[in-house]
Amino acid sequence: MQTVVIVGASLAGTRAAETLRDEGFDGSIVLVGAEEHLPYDRPPLSKQYLSGEWSVERLALIGDGELADLGIETRMATAAVGVDSGAHLVLLDDGSTLPYDGLVIATGARPRMIPGLVADGTRLHTIRSLDDSRRLAEHVRSGRVLGVIGGGFLGSEVASVAAENGADVVVIERASTPMGDVLGAQVGADMAELMREKGVRLRTGVSVSGVSIPAVGSSGSVDIALADGSSESVDAALIAIGAVPNIEWLANSGLQIEDGLVCDRTLFAGDSIVGAGDVVRIRLIDGTIARRSEHWTSAAEQGQRAAHNLLAGRDAATEFDSVPYVWSDQFGVRIETFGRPRPDDEIERFAVAADAPAGVYLHRRDGLVTGCIGLAATRSIVGLRRHVHKGGSLDDAAEVLGAAVPSAMGSAR
Ligand SMILES: Cc1cc2nc3c(=O)[nH]c(=O)nc-3n(C[C@H](O)[C@H](O)[C@H](O)COP(=O)(O)OP(=O)(O)OC[C@H]3O[C@@H](n4cnc5c(N)ncnc54)[C@H](O)[C@@H]3O)c2cc1C
Repeated sequence: MQTVVIVGASLAGTRAAETLRDEGFDGSIVLVGAEEHLPYDRPPLSKQYLSGEWSVERLALIGDGELADLGIETRMATAAVGVDSGAHLVLLDDGSTLPYDGLVIATGARPRMIPGLVADGTRLHTIRSLDDSRRLAEHVRSGRVLGVIGGGFLGSEVASVAAENGADVVVIERASTPMGDVLGAQVGADMAELMREKGVRLRTGVSVSGVSIPAVGSSGSVDIALADGSSESVDAALIAIGAVPNIEWLANSGLQIEDGLVCDRTLFAGDSIVGAGDVVRIRLIDGTIARRSEHWTSAAEQGQRAAHNLLAGRDAATEFDSVPYVWSDQFGVRIETFGRPRPDDEIERFAVAADAPAGVYLHRRDGLVTGCIGLAATRSIVGLRRHVHKGGSLDDAAEVLGAAVPSAMGSAR
């Protein structure tokens, strides 16, 4: 293999490029990215960067110097518009083509929009890129009223920064609790209580029926109409209702595209083509296709595994087999999840500190621990990732917890 092209210059793409070099690949690597910025990290965009605590320099995933040292060529502000997998060519939006021997597809995702609306970056916002975060920062300060549509991780993190900075924040979530689809009703309710304590107005169990924005150049508020007939008037609204994969450019590639790039368990999507990160859906052993992961650790680990397997070749490729890990920082609490906790699991709570809402929630299905949620409990749960991986019993998991935090033993409720 002489040339590897990586499309998508963010976390998964960067990790893939680094891994190729770490594993001794000495051919050429071309990293193609639609954004003008060199690869940067997204989690701080809704946290430390949005709040003004971190400067832009801290976001860099890889700098000019490292790129040069590793011999990675970049084509920034350039989008791939197609793949000719027969001829092994990537087609670019400037009309040029890039030949490849190996291709890594890591084009990630973009914000899902409410049909009919366009985020103009002044009154109506989404958050995915550095530029989005910069524009939104204007509204997360005292004297502003921010409406957050969608109480998932991202919406809740932005609400946290805005409330802490003194903005008046209303979060509108159609489920009965924020983040309930991931955290379940019990943890969602604990987080809702905390959000209210921190001054956020929560409108749960109601969906948005319309958003009207004042004409460009005119003052006036953004009106968010709700399905129960009420409305909220805000200075600006953030739409945080999930993400859609960047797959349109692969339409004629011959690859399997179904709400993501479908890859086998070794992350191969086709001949000499691997996928990594938020764009990927993995076909499981029973033939079903898993949901896209859309979290930092999976994207980083998939970038590494995809590059490793590309070099190894399809026959020697090894499975991507990792326990999902997700974190979110908001309202002074780190939320962490391991495995695939589902709201309909049996859930057991262990208190790990005197202060609410600190706690560990172990999820069980068919008697085995399949997931874990920690609230302000990093030290307690660090040993549980391996345990969740092997699908251990509740008693064993409680023992791991008890060893870390003796007070956790016997305090299940
Ligand atoms: C604001 C924010 C906060 C987050 N916080 C957390 C957190 O606290 N914890 C956590 O676990 N996860 C978090 N995440 C998720 C995490 O950042 C993502 O899972 C990760 O960025 C995915 O990396 P990726 O490389 O797969 O895709 P992306 O980061 O989406 O990057 C894909 C890149 O490909 C480019 N691209 C798209 N199409 C093309 C094309 N045709 N040609 C060339 N380039 C293209 C895009 O412009 C983009 O730069 C957060 C995400 C966001 C947006």
